[in-house]
Amino acid sequence: LSTWSAVPAGPPDPILGITEAFKADKDSRRINLGVGAYRDEDGKPYVLNAVKKAEEKITAAKLDKEYLPITGLSGFTSNAAKLAYGADSVPRNQNAIAVTQTISGTGALRIGGTFLARHYPHSKTIYVPTPTWGNHIPLFKDSGLEVKFYRYFDKKTVGLDFEGLKEDLQNAPEGAIVLLHACAHNPTGVDPTQSQWKDISDIVAEKKLFPFFDMAYQGFASGSTDRDAFAVRYFVSQGHQIALSQSFAKNMGLYGERVGAFSLTTASEEERKRVDSQLKIIVRPMYSNPPLHGAHIANTILSDPELYQEWEGEVKGMADRIINMRERLYQLLSNDFRTPGEWSHVKSQIGMFSFTGLNKEQCKVLAEKAHIYMTMDGRISMAGLNGRNIEYFAKSVDAAVR
Ligand code: PMP
Repeated sequence: LSTWSAVPAGPPDPILGITEAFKADKDSRRINLGVGAYRDEDGKPYVLNAVKKAEEKITAAKLDKEYLPITGLSGFTSNAAKLAYGADSVPRNQNAIAVTQTISGTGALRIGGTFLARHYPHSKTIYVPTPTWGNHIPLFKDSGLEVKFYRYFDKKTVGLDFEGLKEDLQNAPEGAIVLLHACAHNPTGVDPTQSQWKDISDIVAEKKLFPFFDMAYQGFASGSTDRDAFAVRYFVSQGHQIALSQSFAKNMGLYGERVGAFSLTTASEEERKRVDSQLKIIVRPMYSNPPLHGAHIANTILSDPELYQEWEGEVKGMADRIINMRERLYQLLSNDFRTPGEWSHVKSQIGMFSFTGLNKEQCKVLAEKAHIYMTMDGRISMAGLNGRNIEYFAKSVDAAVR
C-alpha cells in the first residue's frame, strides 16, 4: 500500500482550470477572459519598456547573486512604501512604517495574516467582502485567522451594496480586522467613491476595526498611482494604523517575478523596529529571504526619474486601453446589438475585471458554443478583449442572453 493512498483528490483551481480548457480548445475564435493578466492589443503578454530598460541597467551593472536580507532589498521596500503612502506621509517621515519585501501580493497577504494572527491583540477574525478574490479565504484561514464576510456587491444594481457594507461593518465586533480592496476590487470592478471611503473610515474608527488594505492594482484602476492610493492615504491621514499588501504583478507586469511588499504603520521608530524584528521571525523559517531579480527591476524603475516617468506612462496606457474596451463593449451591447439588459456597469466598473452579470448557464454556453472562457461567476478580464475579438465577444454575449 502506498503511503499516500488515503490522500483525496482536491478540486482543481477554478481560475487555472479555465486556462486548461482554453488551451485544449483549438478554435481560432477562442478567447481567454479568465486569468487576470494584462494583454496588449494583439492579445499578447506585455513586457513594459520600463522593465526592459531596467533589466538592461541591471545586466550592465554586473550585480552579484548574494542573498538579500530577510526583509528584502532596502531600496525597494523604501520606494514601495513611498509609492503607496506618498512622499509626505507622516508615518513614513517618522521612520515608523515597518515594511518587508514579499513573494508578490499573495505573499504579502500571507505574511500580514500571520503577523496579525500572532500579534494583533484584539481579534483573530478578518472580515472580507462578498464576493472577494477567491484566494483571500484559504489564505487567511491558513494564516490562522477566522474569515467572516461583509456585504459588498448588489446583484440587482450590479454595483456597490453600500448600505449592506455599512451595516455589516457597524455590526462587526469591536476590534475585528477588515480586509479592504484599496482599488480595482476583484472580482467585481466596483469601488467605493471617495466620499464613501470617508464614511468607511469613520465606521472603522468608531468600531475600532483594524484596516488591512490589499492593493494589488495601484495605477491600474484610474491610470494614476496617486489617485488609486486615495483610500490608503486617506485612512493614514485620519490617524488609522493600517496593514498594507502591495503587488507589482499588474502595474509593472512582473507577474512571474513575484515582487511585493507588506507594511504596517506604527507609532514610532522604536515601535517600528520591534515590529520589524517580528516580521523577520515570521519570514526566516518560511522562506529565509525573498528573490532578488524582480526587486531590482522594481527598485530601478522606482528610483530612476526617467524610467519612473516612462513607467507611469505605460501604466496609464494599460489602464486606458482597458477603459476603451469598456466603452466599446458598452456601445456594442447597448447600441449596436441592443442586447437585453442594462449594460452601463461595464463602463462604470474599474480595473482589470468586469462582473458582467452573466449567470452560470450563460457562461457555460459561451464556453461550449462560442469558445469564450471566463469564471462561472460571470467575471471577465477586460484585458483579454481587443479590437479584433470584441465584436465577436459582444455578439456571443448577445446570443447567450437572448
Ligand atoms: N489581491 C488581489 C485582489 C488580486 O486580484 C491578486 C491577483 N490576482 C492578488 C492579491 C495577488 O497577486 P500576486 O500574488 O500575483 O501579486
